[in-house]
Amino acid sequence: MKQKLFAANWKLNKGPKESNIFFKDFISILPNELQQQIIFFVPATNMESTAKSLEGTKIRFGAQNCYSQVSGAFTGEISAQVVKEIGAQSILLGHSERRHIFKETDDFVAAKGKLVQSLNLLPMLCIGETLEERERGKTEKVCETQLMAFMKSIDLRKEWVVAYEPVWAIGTGKVASLLQVSETHTQIRKMIEREGGSPQVPILYGGSVKPENSKELLAIPEVGGFLVGGASLEPQSFLKICL
Ligand code: PEP
Repeated sequence: MKQKLFAANWKLNKGPKESNIFFKDFISILPNELQQQIIFFVPATNMESTAKSLEGTKIRFGAQNCYSQVSGAFTGEISAQVVKEIGAQSILLGHSERRHIFKETDDFVAAKGKLVQSLNLLPMLCIGETLEERERGKTEKVCETQLMAFMKSIDLRKEWVVAYEPVWAIGTGKVASLLQVSETHTQIRKMIEREGGSPQVPILYGGSVKPENSKELLAIPEVGGFLVGGASLEPQSFLKICL
């Protein structure tokens, strides 16, 4: 069976001190033989301390965003090259907060995906519909548009990951139903294969995943793991989701 992938999105939470305490606790409760893949997307300001905390473990970490170029006159942006230099392995792209609050477009996210892969980092693309789009029956179309822009830009032979995150389920406590997750993941899988993507590309679910609902969601065949926000901020709660 393919290893499941569990990603934590800490958003704008925890400074280096708090994150060091978290990782000390988290590593101390990890089972010896960890079967799961785990990635922490930490604030950019914590990446160096995270690299130190996770040294010698199999846990990966990454940035929550990057710019579409590695250097230049782009005040305040994050360079994927520097993310790599710090020792990170992955970058989260197109999170709904980036798309909706910071107005990132599909093409901009796609350009970042290409850059991230060119540096041999793992891009994790977030896609998903708003509540209004779901109610108007547009979920499949929205996911397709976001996915196709990305797939046209990246090298499909290299590794990449998709996280399906209905916007209305992120941080709201409203988890998508098992049927909604299963249907949308199946549609996404078909789109990936139709466009020549590998059947091995993991499709994660994200949106109010908690220890209480994670097992039934993970039992859905197309769910390759989770992208977890709120419940990843506490070691016990995130580990319960992963195990
Ligand atoms: C997220 O930030 O990607 C997320 C899914 O958050 P939450 O788990 O808090 O809904």
